[in-house]
Amino acid sequence: MFRQMFEEKYMRFPDGKSKALTFSYDDGVKADKKLIEIFDAYGLKGTFNLNSSLFGCECWHDRLDEEQTYSLFAKSGHEIALHGARHIFLDKVPLPEAVNEIVSNRAYLESKFGRIVRGLAYAYNGYNAEIINMLKSLGVSYARTTDETRSFEIPSDWLRFNPSCHHKSAAFRELCEKFLSASPEDDFKHREPWLFSVWGHSYEFDEDGNWNLIEDFAKRVSKRKDIWFATNGQLRDYISAYDELIYSLDGERVFNPSFMPVWLEIRGKVYKIDGGQSVKFDECKD
Ligand SMILES: [Zn+2]
Repeated sequence: MFRQMFEEKYMRFPDGKSKALTFSYDDGVKADKKLIEIFDAYGLKGTFNLNSSLFGCECWHDRLDEEQTYSLFAKSGHEIALHGARHIFLDKVPLPEAVNEIVSNRAYLESKFGRIVRGLAYAYNGYNAEIINMLKSLGVSYARTTDETRSFEIPSDWLRFNPSCHHKSAAFRELCEKFLSASPEDDFKHREPWLFSVWGHSYEFDEDGNWNLIEDFAKRVSKRKDIWFATNGQLRDYISAYDELIYSLDGERVFNPSFMPVWLEIRGKVYKIDGGQSVKFDECKD
């Protein structure tokens, strides 16, 4: 069996998987219900980015009202995240107004749903360096843009979390095929894990009459054991834990100070490091 001969350490997702799939859907509209039904039928996870001052606004793609929003998401098992109270360009208003837009959105969602809400998707992709600093000080853990990477790269800047693509992107089908037919382990030296992060609006499936696009993909990936289905918040927390690993000087011993287990690959072998556990890697036998 192939064995990596080098010392590189590669993050692996839960259960040693090398691929993760996330979905991020915006605006809190009635079509989210059907999208959640599809995710649930196939065991996928989604992140839903919600405004909090536009409930029931039918002129805007048939938004859920306040009660419908609560009953759809409260026990859904999917992530809810920030999208601004009123869906404004954060970078086109005075900073205090932008602060209020995020603070009131977060305060509402945390109070209503009784959970911590730290993820965000930028409305209209509106952000700049000042907005990013503001989000840091408000404890936002990641913020998704609409600037697609058309790749499976893991975000290096969590407040500029560029997704792989929109589901309507010309790149979507090609990325789907690659994600299902290949894997990081196919490469000898560059075995970084893959993240396929898809974004969009569920009402677009109604408008375009193509619910089959997402349902067919969901059906195909659901059978796969090598893919971690996660919310963007779960992904962010997992990678934070991985990044906190502490290594010995020679790189042969690792300690996991977090509460959650993390996985990594070295020399072709995958290790699970439980929270609070120290592991010494097997020696290279050749
Ligand atoms: Zn939006």
